[in-house]
Amino acid sequence: MNLLDATHDPALRSWVESANAADTDFPIQNLPYGRFRRAGSDEPWRIGVAIGDQVLDLKLAAEQCPWGESVAGLLQPLAEGNLNSFMALGAPARRTLRAALSAALAAGSEQGPFLELCLVPQAAVQMALPCQIGDYTDFYTGIHHAVTVGKLFRPDNPLLPNYKWVPIGYHGRVSSIGVSGQVVQRPHGQTLAPGAAEPTFGPCKRLDYELELGIFVGAGNALGQPKTMEQAEADWFGLVLLNDWSARDIQAWEYQPLGPFLAKNFASTVSPWIVTQEALAPYRAAFERPAEDPQPLPYLSSAFNSAAGALDVTLEVWLATALMPTPQKLMQSNFRDAYWTVAQLLTHHSSGGCNLQPGDLLGSGTISGPMAGQGGSLLELSNGGKAPITLASGETRTFLQDGDTVILRAFCSAPGRARIALGQAAGTVRG
Ligand code: MN
Repeated sequence: MNLLDATHDPALRSWVESANAADTDFPIQNLPYGRFRRAGSDEPWRIGVAIGDQVLDLKLAAEQCPWGESVAGLLQPLAEGNLNSFMALGAPARRTLRAALSAALAAGSEQGPFLELCLVPQAAVQMALPCQIGDYTDFYTGIHHAVTVGKLFRPDNPLLPNYKWVPIGYHGRVSSIGVSGQVVQRPHGQTLAPGAAEPTFGPCKRLDYELELGIFVGAGNALGQPKTMEQAEADWFGLVLLNDWSARDIQAWEYQPLGPFLAKNFASTVSPWIVTQEALAPYRAAFERPAEDPQPLPYLSSAFNSAAGALDVTLEVWLATALMPTPQKLMQSNFRDAYWTVAQLLTHHSSGGCNLQPGDLLGSGTISGPMAGQGGSLLELSNGGKAPITLASGETRTFLQDGDTVILRAFCSAPGRARIALGQAAGTVRG
């Protein structure tokens, strides 16, 4: 299957000059969707497309620019600020609108003079969550994270035997998901201090982040009718960055036998722009399992998944502190190292009959790299709090302090392909 078309041409240029900069997150080959309004206004939220340092306002674009009939129909729910309705339409709608937006934003387009009037600088907008999130599930596909953390929690038994057979996950909470810029209140909770006989209640002492990707479901499935791998591959809409803030001391005390609860539900932060799977098509990669590992069961296997189910997305964590306002990069990893692909997560989630719905959010789990220093959480980088890391400011950290700002970033780049980035998910801890 050839997933690439004219919209991926690395030579394509836009009449929006900032979209042609080599280091922009949002070149014309990206075209991610977000929900915005002009900063300081109380106008209704509307859907826009990021292009360079601008936002194309799809409400204005629908009203003020000539479009073909099929495209005008697709723009209607977006003009009303409803991304979920568009997500539900699946792959054909995504591809049709992508082609139309790419042509309209391309240098020399006859629609350019109309759309110039529909641009808003990103610096002048406020972003909301990109869609209405119905349900949120967090998976655990980062095997390097699972092994390292497993050693800390269970030295004798780091990786439980089910890990290589079944995608592990838990149902999370939607109400506390916020968009980049979120202020995260340090949670209080019940913890058991080392050596103590009884727990106490108080502020979290081991506050952490988790470097994850968030997968938005596009077209859903009816209750009792699981997705096949082929349907799942067509039906995921796109990716955002996801910080699954975690209270490690609360987690360690509460997590058995039913898994994470209050240690995870006080905040989660996503980046504002959903990068569609079409934009990521040039960065698909083979899904490979080590020879000694079990191959996925048939319901989680497909020829396409083996050939191109994985994604080559570089992930980074940056940290700024009250004393160090310029962020410092803490680590880098790659989503290719995930143990399961996006299609496998949707397929498995629906395999018992669970109905996924447009706008549902699936977290990838913390994506750590295989090497020391590639942990996607402070729990890993500080070896469970035993080995503080030293920052450029001379400060040290085992876990987060009040005033710390965690910034997740992600991008795809390769010779001969346009750079595609996800922007950032930033959040600041408040005591
Ligand atoms: Mn997580």
